[in-house]
Amino acid sequence: MRITKKEGLRLLKEADLLALGEMSDRIRKDIHPEGMVTFVIDRNINYTNVCVNRCSFCAFYRDPGSPEAYLLTREEFSKKIEETLEQGGTQILLQGGLHPDLGVDYYVDLLRFIKDRYRINIHGFSPPEISFLAARHDLTVRETLKILREAGLDSMPGGGAEILSDRVREILSPRKIKTAEWLRVMEEAHFLGMRTTATMMFGSVEGPEDIVEHLDRIRGLQEKTGGFTAFIPWSFQPGNTELGIGDLGSGIGNQKKSNPKSPTTKPLYAATAVEYLRVLALSRLYLDNIKNVQASWVTQGIKLAQVALRFGANDFGSTMLEENVVAAAGVSYRVSREDIITAIRTAGFKPAQRDTYYNVLREF
Ligand code: SF4
Repeated sequence: MRITKKEGLRLLKEADLLALGEMSDRIRKDIHPEGMVTFVIDRNINYTNVCVNRCSFCAFYRDPGSPEAYLLTREEFSKKIEETLEQGGTQILLQGGLHPDLGVDYYVDLLRFIKDRYRINIHGFSPPEISFLAARHDLTVRETLKILREAGLDSMPGGGAEILSDRVREILSPRKIKTAEWLRVMEEAHFLGMRTTATMMFGSVEGPEDIVEHLDRIRGLQEKTGGFTAFIPWSFQPGNTELGIGDLGSGIGNQKKSNPKSPTTKPLYAATAVEYLRVLALSRLYLDNIKNVQASWVTQGIKLAQVALRFGANDFGSTMLEENVVAAAGVSYRVSREDIITAIRTAGFKPAQRDTYYNVLREF
């Protein structure tokens, strides 16, 4: 029976941790009875760090004109993609800041440049980038997506969702697109036949009600379109961000300092392992119409990601031959493909490489 918002809130706040884990593990087993845990070999390519949005939780962006601002060259793109292919990669995750000088021609040329040379899936541009580009050219979201799709965009990551509650978005990222627009971009992408993921960044200024609201909105859109391939919850990393005043987030749970720069009085600290597992398990239980739930070793480390496989996750995400955004917050877990395979196997599952669409390519 489908979990209601009220029940979801009760589970998140009050359920016994292990009971929650057991329930989510049972659902995971029902959906994926073969006992397989998948991962994709890919690389995050962040084409620029220039961004006008200045989100308070982001350690990655630089203002236009900053000495640390960059825009990747074609040579850099080629090198990164060739390295990815050499390592058996099938996908690049292409994302960047909202650069005020990049128009639709830049994106079309870039997509064509990649597709003309390489056989690789381009998983790119989250809803804020699409919306920004559409507004810049006075195009509709659908027109913008069509142009990018024709140029070679295959699928989209679910970035920029953070928490789909405008109350929270006003605090975290007042310049970023609101909840309805994020959902609208995803709906348009699904309408055009593109598959996307959905994400949630929790552990900042939201309350449990906002987490449940987020899950409910994702489930509602999936009911309508069926276009989400996976859900990826991950926790706010406070290091080097305006919101986190530079805490590196390593002493999980013991950094309850209030932040004088923050527009909220809530103490900010990195989410604890238990908080992560509760949210992950609830996600598996609540999102009964989304097949895959990812563990986030990038933010939680590989050991907690192993535990996550008993709290509802059936996918280990990406090998991330390169990752810049979480690393900018001072959190840098590096793992190899072999580390991922070993972690999955020793957690009691069959490791398998998948493609963007969750088709199994190779078992180990
Ligand atoms: S999270 Fe994205 S939109 Fe916000 S400042 Fe960082 S790069 Fe820009």
